[in-house]
Amino acid sequence: MRRKMPADLYPTEDKPGLRVRGGTKYSSSQGDYVCGGCGAEDHANGDNNVKALVQDYADNHGPAHRGGRQ
Ligand SMILES: [Zn+2]
Repeated sequence: MRRKMPADLYPTEDKPGLRVRGGTKYSSSQGDYVCGGCGAEDHANGDNNVKALVQDYADNHGPAHRGGRQ
């Protein structure tokens, strides 16, 4: 059993998933995903872009590849 990944590790093709980090007053929020279903990946910076990325992942990737949705 592998140890849990550190929270700040980026997703990779070996470890697909969605990762979001909230911004601070010194940095904007960041989001990254690597889709385990189709291999797509994307990255975003800034609250609005990260929200869009999360929505895209939820609608089109990750769990959306299962259960008959594509
Ligand atoms: Zn996908």
